[in-house]
Amino acid sequence: MTKLALVSGANRGIGLAISTSLAQKGVQVFLGCRDLANGQAACNALKDQGLNVTPVQLDTTNQTSVSELVAYIENAFGRLDILVNNAGIALDYHQDLSPTERMAQTLDVNVTGLVRLTEAMVPLLAKSEDARIINVSSVLASFGQRQNPDWIYKDIYMPTYAATKAAVNSLTLSYARQLAEFGIKVNAICPGLTATAATNYQGRPVEDAAVIAVDMALLDVGTATGTFRNDEGELPW
Ligand code: NAP
Repeated sequence: MTKLALVSGANRGIGLAISTSLAQKGVQVFLGCRDLANGQAACNALKDQGLNVTPVQLDTTNQTSVSELVAYIENAFGRLDILVNNAGIALDYHQDLSPTERMAQTLDVNVTGLVRLTEAMVPLLAKSEDARIINVSSVLASFGQRQNPDWIYKDIYMPTYAATKAAVNSLTLSYARQLAEFGIKVNAICPGLTATAATNYQGRPVEDAAVIAVDMALLDVGTATGTFRNDEGELPW
């Protein structure tokens, strides 16, 4: 049976690369996009390669958007196998916003949005034989790494972003426990520093960043639950 995946924030960056790689491996992928026109443009290029992709409108901060997407997948397919919570923002360098504005907006997307989408999709994931949730986190949230004085990213100061991704990690552990009764595996990953709009195109190619998410979605490594990994192995929380 063809696996069904939903990726949030999929019209560009790492989300688009994860969607592309999943589709190249035979998964039917719904690309969640705030602006459907952007999603359609991204999907047209993938469809030209023969990939099974569908753009869907998804703003994770909007309950109506999320509910309408649940209804669409429920009516058309009746289940979901893979949810990649990829949509995320980082506003630490936005000097036009106050620290509390940065925190409120970042929490809304990175944390509350993830909870809204996850809660809405759980009934569909519970109908899958091998359901997996992959939360796109960041090593910048790792308390274990932050205690290391030699850590490569020790001088990166993104307090708002790091706090929200630490919340994502906490939710990963909580959901892993809560959803075990439905057989749903829940893991957090770090894609690594990647060249996207979010980093002003500093870092490695998006194709490399997508590998760990796709592995957790499809390979045996993803039958674990409640882990935090990058493509070198497990990360400290
Ligand atoms: P990006 O290029 O800025 O893409 C972010 C995506 O999230 C876009 O598709 C954006 O949609 C979407 N998005 C933003 N707010 C949304 C909302 N409310 N609802 C739905 N989608 C929303 O960023 P990226 O670098 O690919 O990052 C993807 C994920 O990887 C994020 O969670 C990020 O924190 C994480 N990450 C990135 C790096 C890195 O080095 N790039 C490292 C570690 C972790 P629009 O196009 O409509 O804005």
